[in-house]
Amino acid sequence: MQGMPTTFSSLRTSLHTIALLSSAAAVLGWDEQTYLPSKAAPIRGEMSAALAEHVHSLLTDPELHRLVQDLADQADTMSEQEQAAVRETLRDVERACKLPSDFVRLLSETASEGYAAWLQATQRSDYSIFLPVLTRLVDLKRQEAELYGYENHPYDALLEDYEPGLWTAAVREMFSALKDPLVILLRKIQASPVMAEPTVVQGTFPEARQREFLLMIAQTLGFDLEAGRLDSTQHPFATGFHPTDVRITTHFDERDLTKALLSTIHELGHGMYEQGLPADWYGTPLGEAVSFGVHESQSRLWENQVGRSKAFWQYAYPLLQSRFPSPFATLPFDDFYRAINHVAPGLIRVDADEVTYNLHIILRFELETALLEGTLKTEELPGAWNEKMKQYFGLEVPDDAHGVLQDVHWSSGSFGYFPSYTLGNLYAAQLFAAAENGIPELSTGIARGEFRPLLSWLRENVHRYGRFYKPAELIRHATGSDPDPSFYLAYLQEKYGNLYGF
Ligand code: ZN
Repeated sequence: MQGMPTTFSSLRTSLHTIALLSSAAAVLGWDEQTYLPSKAAPIRGEMSAALAEHVHSLLTDPELHRLVQDLADQADTMSEQEQAAVRETLRDVERACKLPSDFVRLLSETASEGYAAWLQATQRSDYSIFLPVLTRLVDLKRQEAELYGYENHPYDALLEDYEPGLWTAAVREMFSALKDPLVILLRKIQASPVMAEPTVVQGTFPEARQREFLLMIAQTLGFDLEAGRLDSTQHPFATGFHPTDVRITTHFDERDLTKALLSTIHELGHGMYEQGLPADWYGTPLGEAVSFGVHESQSRLWENQVGRSKAFWQYAYPLLQSRFPSPFATLPFDDFYRAINHVAPGLIRVDADEVTYNLHIILRFELETALLEGTLKTEELPGAWNEKMKQYFGLEVPDDAHGVLQDVHWSSGSFGYFPSYTLGNLYAAQLFAAAENGIPELSTGIARGEFRPLLSWLRENVHRYGRFYKPAELIRHATGSDPDPSFYLAYLQEKYGNLYGF
């Protein structure tokens, strides 16, 4: 008994060092996407690679492996939290050790090559430029799946990086429960006589004034600006180095302020999750976000269940009208609300609305699992893509830039990432429904600008756990049921039924 706390604390010391280096690497990454002078790109690449290699060597150090294994063997002498921290560390270390360092380097080099080829292919809308390196990447990802090992499907091994414990079969089941109802809902909306005019929100919105408004919203929602910053970038993201240092970014469009606004609320959701992770456990898995899907649930919940809701705008629209009288002073509330919830099938995932978004993801999931299985060849990918776009959206794809080349993920080898987006939507609806049950008058409060009860509920039921639970367990613990697409479908049916009158 006496020796145990010391042993766990020696593990913590090692993990703390690894976390400090990883956080430093993340600062470099944030800087790269916000302020880095263009000439500095090559040396920054070297800095990041050196840190990443050092972190990998520390994580695969046999001494660390032995220490974690020892602790795991004596789990019953530790607190529940310590046991979970050891369980998750052992999982990370064993996983890291399964990939030989030569393989890791080859994968990372091929991913850089893939990104460069993808950029060029996208600019020229020419898939053939991307095809050779994509073929090698798919091949490497299949090898990676073999190295990790899996029971049922090679994609299981890759999903583990994004949604630990979730299997391909479970994703397939959830997505197939979603697909037909979404297509039916979309057809109903398209057949509805109710028309939304999305352009009514356009005007002239100087960046500095948008920024001021966003900072006010950030503070009101509960993002701690003394433990975070808001900066500009081309492709918005959020990143956390520690609960006391969380960076969110946004991209301003001076003609349409709702774009930066809703995208910032999304990133704030990610940011508030990072600020809510337990600082006491920094460095251990209990101080880390549990999965990409749960991370995305936090951003989607604030962006959609809150930021696109009637209640939120009952609070925020008068503020918007007083700060930006043109065009909002004379724009009726209902027109504004309809504009920000306009549904229309489109070719591009990142521009998609709440109803069609998941169809974009289902399409990608079906294609990437087929690539991994080998039932779809990379040469056949654009054709398969275009066929599904026709089938799910009724759209013809004019060129590959608006089709198969639109997303960066595959170019850097991120197979298994896409389901996180839809899982995020599903978890968001399920968590929000549970929060509504747990917080009396949640919507009434939101309409008055009271967001603390919701944030506290998320802190209490999601954020504070870090990786204590596996993602699906966390959802079950927070909501009382397993991850279940019916909450999301019910949310969409009700919201869009009201909006489009059916
Ligand atoms: Zn996100």
